[in-house]
Amino acid sequence: MQTKDLLQLAEEFGSPLYVYDAEKIQSQYNRLTTAFSKVDSLRINYAVKALSNISILKLLKQMGAGLDTVSIQEVQLGIHAGFSPEKIIYTPNGVSLEEIEEVAQIGVQINIDNLSILEQFGTKYPNIPVCIRINPHVMAGGNTNISVGHIDSKFGISIHQMPHLLRIIENTNMHINGIHMHTGSDILDVEVFLYAAEILFEAAKHFMTLDFIDFGSGFKVPYSKGDIETDVEEFGKKLTKRFNAFCKEYGRDLTLAFEPGKFLVSEAGYFLAKVNVVKQTTSTVFAGVDSGFNHLIRPMLYGSQHHIENISNPKGKERFYSVVGYICETDTFANNRRINEIKEGDILCFRNAGAYCFSMASNYNSRYKPAEVLWFEGKGHLIRERETFEDLIKNQVVFEFEPQTA
Ligand SMILES: *Cc1c(COP(=O)(O)O)cnc(C)c1O
Repeated sequence: MQTKDLLQLAEEFGSPLYVYDAEKIQSQYNRLTTAFSKVDSLRINYAVKALSNISILKLLKQMGAGLDTVSIQEVQLGIHAGFSPEKIIYTPNGVSLEEIEEVAQIGVQINIDNLSILEQFGTKYPNIPVCIRINPHVMAGGNTNISVGHIDSKFGISIHQMPHLLRIIENTNMHINGIHMHTGSDILDVEVFLYAAEILFEAAKHFMTLDFIDFGSGFKVPYSKGDIETDVEEFGKKLTKRFNAFCKEYGRDLTLAFEPGKFLVSEAGYFLAKVNVVKQTTSTVFAGVDSGFNHLIRPMLYGSQHHIENISNPKGKERFYSVVGYICETDTFANNRRINEIKEGDILCFRNAGAYCFSMASNYNSRYKPAEVLWFEGKGHLIRERETFEDLIKNQVVFEFEPQTA
């Protein structure tokens, strides 16, 4: 996608606006499948929570992806988008047994991450195959909120609980068809992945009925030129070799699964916002845009550094700005950033806005959620309308007070 295309989309569809480049999603998907092309049976389950627009799901379906879901609503979205239940895995945390039962009835692969639910589910449905989420306790991840493998993490069944886990399986006679881990996001080191994988292989030897091993996700994507990223090609080479050797040892060919979110959609996304005001204070120059953490919360929640460009003045002299939103709370997108000179009315473009951006948007300050556009084969297609006042009030039930008599 080129700057002029983005600028034109902002004009056509207004701001703030999310734009997704289909070609980038496709090339990331192909990059991953190519890196693992020497694995006989590979499955890529896209993590719906990263970006759950139905047209994005359809694009990934067309590529051959399955889905990784964390709620029954994501399962329903996937089915609505045309995925068959067998192409969906459900990896919830802390949800009720009732919801898990409901998803199992749909025919979706269940992945259970605690012993209490495992025992209850296995007792009731010994014939429904279940995948087990293991916590290998490998410390990885860029931020404590997105790092899920550590000892205090609420995710997964601890590798140290293996004896109890095996006892439950023996007592219930349930069928374990998969083993899974997801150690967190932003893993910088392939060796960390491989170390955790070894723990998973060790665990897998306890289960002789497996069909697949799911290595979760955590691929680190670059946020700017030269930024560190997971070396997917090297990872593919190393894990493929180790996985194929394990299958020999195990005595059967297994499916290797991943469930990337960020890797597939992060870099494909652009968030466009208009500068409402340039405000010079005693200490800084603020560029205030027509958005805030209601539309893009990652900088405030995780300290994510989204690269910001002034696409209205790409050749202008660079100056330092703090880019802030219009929310009545501190909502700083970026501090002290070098950006081409900004004038009121300019369009700023935030990069890496595909994953966990729109999907985390809210209506705080009673603002509308932005529109979404898919850039496909050189054209912009509206895939979600901007909200309207109707959306803000549609679920409210107004209590009518009696007129006061004096
Ligand atoms: C969120 C999540 C993912 C996707 O993580 P990314 O860092 O976006 O690739 C994968 N698996 C599970 C179980 C998740 O909760």
